[in-house]
Amino acid sequence: MLFRSKKQTFSITLARGAAESIFDECDKYDADETGGRLLGTYRHQGGHYDIEVKGVLEPGPNAQRSPTYFLQDGEHQERLFRAIEASHPDIEHLGNWHTHHVNGLPTLSGGDKETYFKTVNHAKHNTDFFYALLVVSKNRGGNPRYAIKHFIFRRGDEAIYEIPLAEVRLVDAPPLRPGKIAETRDPPPQTGGQNAANPERAKDHEFFAEFYPGLKALLAKDIGAPYWKGPLSLVDGSRADVAAMEDPDDRARSYSIASSSKNPAIADILEQYKQRKFRSARHAVLHLERDLNQALYQGKKG
Ligand SMILES: [Zn+2]
Repeated sequence: MLFRSKKQTFSITLARGAAESIFDECDKYDADETGGRLLGTYRHQGGHYDIEVKGVLEPGPNAQRSPTYFLQDGEHQERLFRAIEASHPDIEHLGNWHTHHVNGLPTLSGGDKETYFKTVNHAKHNTDFFYALLVVSKNRGGNPRYAIKHFIFRRGDEAIYEIPLAEVRLVDAPPLRPGKIAETRDPPPQTGGQNAANPERAKDHEFFAEFYPGLKALLAKDIGAPYWKGPLSLVDGSRADVAAMEDPDDRARSYSIASSSKNPAIADILEQYKQRKFRSARHAVLHLERDLNQALYQGKKG
């Protein structure tokens, strides 16, 4: 035994209440991906991980979704997590769950794997593993309502461990709930004027650099705020040049978005978007992209 490398083994216990709230969320989104965070406790001893999922965090009101993309509302989840932690201090963030039954991919995508390896190896990650639960198909009239797969990533380990269903147990327990949900009111508007730091700007930078490297931040000299400009590749192979910018007159720092595309199939959407306001450039871009793709897709069908 001395020189044998240790084999890692895993067992997972899933509270039925947590599984049900995952399935409830899946029922709400049959075209776009959705997901959430997995909460619970774990023990790691002698190469064996015993993971207990006791609750989930909902994706939050500002989660971003498309048929192939999902981004959680981290701020909302952070508030919920603090509220749960206050009455259950042993609870950890174990990993994430998300759906693929909407796009038919029966396993993790290349992008998922890349993200999870990055997460588990991040200096600030709280544990030495990351648990990814994937919803892969809907069981028509079946019990359970959805088929799920379980994957574990480990810090400093290039393997991905798919946990066989025999190692996953459902136990009858309600999901964890926050003792008292923290106030979710928005902070009061800043009074520092246009030059006060807008936290959305830094998040936009990070988001676009990672997911939309074609969009560049430019500085509008007369406004003093950055705006984002570049091409969006659409589902029909065309592209639309878009610009998302902060409204310099709005204390709440809303963003608007415009496109120079002359495609008649999307003219209505672009017209509607002239009136719309968003809390960040990334919200503006993701919403517009989704609506343009939907219009192009439906135009083709019709
Ligand atoms: Zn995925």
